[in-house]
Amino acid sequence: MQCKEPLFLLFLVAMAPALFGVQGNVLSTPARLPKDFWEKKSLYYSHQHPEGSAEESPEDAKTREIVIERLKSRNSGDDADQRLAEQRELIAPVADRIQRKWDDLSTMNFTALMWEIDNELPEMNDRKGRTRGARGLPAFLGNAMKLLDLKQVVKEIETSVMTSVSCSACKAGVGLLQHYVDSGKSTDDIIHAATKLCVSMKIESRRVCEGIIDIMAEEVVYVLARLILTADEICGFVIGDVCAIPYNPYHDWEVPLPPIPKPGAVVALPAPNVAPLKVLHLSDTHFDPYYHEGSHAACSEPLCCRLTDGIPNSPSDGAGRWGDYRKCDTPRKTIESMLAHIANYHQDIDFVIWTGDLPPHDVWNQSRSDNLYVLRETVRQLSFYLPKARIFPALGNHESSPVNSFPPPNVEAQYAMDWLYDELDLLWRRWLPDSTSPTVRRGAFYSVLASPGFRIISLNMNYCNNKNWWLLLNSTDPAQELQWLIYELQSAELKGEKVHILGHIPPGHSDCLKVWSHNYYRIVNRYEATIAGQFFGHTHFDEFEVFYDETYRGRASSVAYIGPSVTPYYGLNPGYRIYHVDGNYAGSTRTVLDHETWIMDLQEANRHAVESPRWYRLYTAREAFRMHSLTPQDWDHLVQRMTYDDNLFQTYYKFYWKASPVRPDCDAECKKRLLCDLKSGRSNDRKLTCQEIEERIDAKKSSTWKTWLFNGFALSSLFTFLAGFGWFGSSVPSWLF
Ligand SMILES: [Zn+2]
Ligand SMILES: [Zn+2]
Repeated sequence: MQCKEPLFLLFLVAMAPALFGVQGNVLSTPARLPKDFWEKKSLYYSHQHPEGSAEESPEDAKTREIVIERLKSRNSGDDADQRLAEQRELIAPVADRIQRKWDDLSTMNFTALMWEIDNELPEMNDRKGRTRGARGLPAFLGNAMKLLDLKQVVKEIETSVMTSVSCSACKAGVGLLQHYVDSGKSTDDIIHAATKLCVSMKIESRRVCEGIIDIMAEEVVYVLARLILTADEICGFVIGDVCAIPYNPYHDWEVPLPPIPKPGAVVALPAPNVAPLKVLHLSDTHFDPYYHEGSHAACSEPLCCRLTDGIPNSPSDGAGRWGDYRKCDTPRKTIESMLAHIANYHQDIDFVIWTGDLPPHDVWNQSRSDNLYVLRETVRQLSFYLPKARIFPALGNHESSPVNSFPPPNVEAQYAMDWLYDELDLLWRRWLPDSTSPTVRRGAFYSVLASPGFRIISLNMNYCNNKNWWLLLNSTDPAQELQWLIYELQSAELKGEKVHILGHIPPGHSDCLKVWSHNYYRIVNRYEATIAGQFFGHTHFDEFEVFYDETYRGRASSVAYIGPSVTPYYGLNPGYRIYHVDGNYAGSTRTVLDHETWIMDLQEANRHAVESPRWYRLYTAREAFRMHSLTPQDWDHLVQRMTYDDNLFQTYYKFYWKASPVRPDCDAECKKRLLCDLKSGRSNDRKLTCQEIEERIDAKKSSTWKTWLFNGFALSSLFTFLAGFGWFGSSVPSWLF
């Protein structure tokens, strides 16, 4: 239940014209680009498509000429008017025809239209039917539209499991969109066509179509009009590996590490007789001020359970008192019930980490002021129920409007993030020292010495969010956040401090840009001895991500905890997390010693319509998973064990869904995907990370006596061997055998 905003990417990918309205003529506004942008781009293209190569077909050669010609024309003074005129001339016949076709979308024959486009644009297919075009209408559009399976695309977007289906849809949508932008269509025209397309193809309800297009159009077109990336490049950037990311020098960067050698491994153990700290982790509250008990919970929009969804005929379709397993966010009374319970049951909390996503999922009709209201209201709720708590917040992807839109500093004033970051600075300062203000106002990240020898660093993970379209313009370490992180970690290392890192989007999740994620992974590995814990949210599930040594990939080097969501959105019980962290003493490791997940059984609470539902501890990690301790190596072992032990995996799976009674079954493919997630501290790296685990599950699935014998023998002999050498001393757990 990733906060996937299923519509957004779908819009972006399949119906992209929808997103790209623009005020006036987009190309008449001078682009803010590096001086050598077009020159580099031209060189890059020439390099990718060398003249006279043996494999080059006449069509390829012609395409290359056209693209380089266009790039050069931009290079020579960047005359926008001339460029626009040339492009208009080039595609005018097709644009006219498309215009006529758009006029009757409901009866349009996409296949025929795309066939015409394919045959009229000067950009040719190569022999294998692949496009070589730059910014015209890609020739694969026809094939993509023919193959377009919108239901499949929606499913893939919701589950974050992208395949070539989403990739084709993305390329089709983006290609069409670029065509509109390049042909100089007005914002209103684009919005009009897009809305019609969205409604007539029943992608969403009319109000959702209209709302989302209206909110996002201006910004997305602003970005698109300043890009010369091909649809291939854009989709590779957004979707990741399955879309075969073409090499792009603008999105290939590395933040330098200081030339200070990594300290040697020192294994420090927690002091045995010191009481651990108790840390509360709240994430993804998604408070819905308009939740209405009894309203329609089975609506067809991305968020239901509001008066505007109407009252259903059947009571079973009505929204529950304390929330609903369908697409509904958290009612006020559920948040208040949880906070009152926490204040009552966990009076010994030392501090709170709070990893973002506060507004509800009605992203098609949100404004900046709506989101600021929810932010202020959630801060008020926390301050009211936990007045003495020290709270360390991090920013989610839903806090902005439009959702996911987080331009880096130095954009034009009208797009700047001051409206949100200044407010965060104001609201967060009740818990944070004044020293955090400059970085919060710059990029919504900060570093705080929480107690002597212990630092908390909160990151704004929206600078790795692949749905943050601003990063298409320049993804290079936005706001210099990673450079700053390295500085903070290096200082901490030199001072002997331990660090906890907080953030919203997990760094290994497919929503986190590959290049950012790979840089972050390198940083975590360099400072593994300093980073004692990492804590994220965003997926709404109860899970974790293991990081591995980059040289010796078998050695787990760090673990990131992904705390469960407060919102039941969707199919989940509401929940929160408690960590027991090595405590406050000189030389403390500050590592997580154990953790608990607490939930409310939504079904039970709604069934009895009780006044105060019961919140209870669902499980404790070490006990539930029979773990000796919670080192990165222990989490890696757990993943290994789950590949063989299906009962153990089913226990994990139940907790992953916070024991939701509506959780689906998990087949072998699902198991492979979830276990691979656990090994993915680095995004878009599944092939390398997960091949072994997938093979093992496949082997087990088609289990022959040989594989059974091999697996059983290999495991037991390995651990007998290790035990014999005293690696586990006398603590070899009996489950190993
Ligand atoms: Zn969320
Ligand atoms: Zn999120």
